Amino acid sequence: MEVPSDRKPKHHQEFNSLAVTDLSPSTSSPTFPPVVTASFAADNSGVFQLRLRQPESGGEAICFGLRNSQLFNLGPLETLVVVEESGNSEAAKESSSFSKAFKLEFTTLYQQRAFYAAFEQLKHGVSITQNGPLKNGSVTSPKSKFDNKIEASSAKMYFHYYGQLLHQQNMLQDYVRTGTYYSAVIENCIDFQGRVVVDVGAGSGILSLFAAQAGAKHVYAVEASEMADFATRLIAGNESLRHLITVIKGKIEDVELPEKADILISEPMGTLLVNERMLETYVIARDRFLVPGGKMFPSIGRIHMAPFSDEYLFVEIANKALFWQQRNFYGVDLTPLYGSAFQGYFSQPVVDAFDPRILVSPPSSHSLDFNSIKEEDLYEIDIPLSFIAAVGTRVHGLACWFDVLFNGSSVQRWLTTAPGSPTTHWYQMRCVLSQPLYVMAGQEITGKLHLVAHSAQSYTINLTMSAKMWGPGADQGGIIQTSTGKLELKEPYYRLSQPQPYMPSAQDQLLHQHYITPQDGNVTSINLQQPQSPGFFMNQ
Ligand code: SAH
Repeated sequence: MEVPSDRKPKHHQEFNSLAVTDLSPSTSSPTFPPVVTASFAADNSGVFQLRLRQPESGGEAICFGLRNSQLFNLGPLETLVVVEESGNSEAAKESSSFSKAFKLEFTTLYQQRAFYAAFEQLKHGVSITQNGPLKNGSVTSPKSKFDNKIEASSAKMYFHYYGQLLHQQNMLQDYVRTGTYYSAVIENCIDFQGRVVVDVGAGSGILSLFAAQAGAKHVYAVEASEMADFATRLIAGNESLRHLITVIKGKIEDVELPEKADILISEPMGTLLVNERMLETYVIARDRFLVPGGKMFPSIGRIHMAPFSDEYLFVEIANKALFWQQRNFYGVDLTPLYGSAFQGYFSQPVVDAFDPRILVSPPSSHSLDFNSIKEEDLYEIDIPLSFIAAVGTRVHGLACWFDVLFNGSSVQRWLTTAPGSPTTHWYQMRCVLSQPLYVMAGQEITGKLHLVAHSAQSYTINLTMSAKMWGPGADQGGIIQTSTGKLELKEPYYRLSQPQPYMPSAQDQLLHQHYITPQDGNVTSINLQQPQSPGFFMNQ
């Protein structure tokens, strides 16, 4: 989509030290000095132009509209710019194939690649991929930041998934998610009015449209999957907003934008906040495109964790492996694989909605400040755990959920995925330990949640939970029960088919009711005496 005429880029990219040769048919000798700076800028009507000028001599720039220009790749470092003459001059009629041509020689392949990317984006509103072949030739370039850390097969499946409308619809229909973004943007329209916005991973373009509704001066909707084409169509069909949004097809890590953003908007959260590794993309977008002091929507994410007790879930998972206990399966002894199958089932994080009353103590949380966190800080996340059990029970693992903050100038809004709050498409996640811990009320539960990113856009989860027993030997350090688990965040068990009634165990009956406020995701009070009827949720 075209950039509207009232806007000129504040920052435009310059390509220095190019050698330029004028190959126009009417020119007998090169008109340019050897060293030239090329840049892109909008003319008064908002149409982007390529400018060539010699910086030292201060000489006049030559400008061509990008609409009439084409790039031909002559080979590594060499590109031909051909400009069609739009007038009906004699010269134009004579030379039917082209009017002007300039050979540009770049100093590096990277510079040539960046020039192509900027040209394509500003001309068509689309980007070329960093590693895709350039039109009319083959130029190799260093791998992009994204391709360096993510396996091609994972990225292919990932963007294929998001390229489908049904998956975008699933997110759009998550009323809690989409509604909270909408309120956060519209109620904080003061943060968007007259501002340049970048939508990081725009998908269908919904957040770009919200930002435009809130009065943004211009929105760049960057989307890597084929969904970019649908977003273009959706935006084109919204007449009052379409002139405010430019869809750019490409990865955040690779694309070039004609100007910096005052505000970033994105929905980069996956299961346990960090799954899909898109927070890294969000942080890269901040470093590449956000003006210093610019706003991020959202600006903070928090992972909340608490030990839980759920005998039913534990038995369900343990029982899945019982199949491998058979000694005569068509005459075959399956037991050699029982141990591996058992561990395999416990390596799957369980994703479903649970009743907060299964929590054994108030949650603790780990915050990620998107304004300041470094991309590398997300490669390995180490969260120490420390809880005090509110009840005596068997602890079956760690329950996790997250929330994010829209820190608007008018209103602060939290989007929470806490248990007991209205359910989102993220649900909650539980790491179930194959060896439960026995705890008494008041006992400390310690441990560690250690997340290690991998190239398949997810994390390996290492969980350790310990409870120090009281009684004989406690003063010498006590007897420590420790249970560990290694789980794969990319391979969750979606346990959503069955309804999830609350089934209190005998010991729970008299004990606890946890209240989790949607605002901050923290348990604020624990009533130890009032049993609640099954199925009772705070927010219903
Ligand atoms: N913003 C939309 C879509 C959110 S889903 C909404 O809120 O409804 C995340 C989107 O980000 C997906 O469409 C995915 O293809 C895109 N995405 C993920 N990583 C990206 C990257 N590195 N560059 C560009 N887009 C990316």
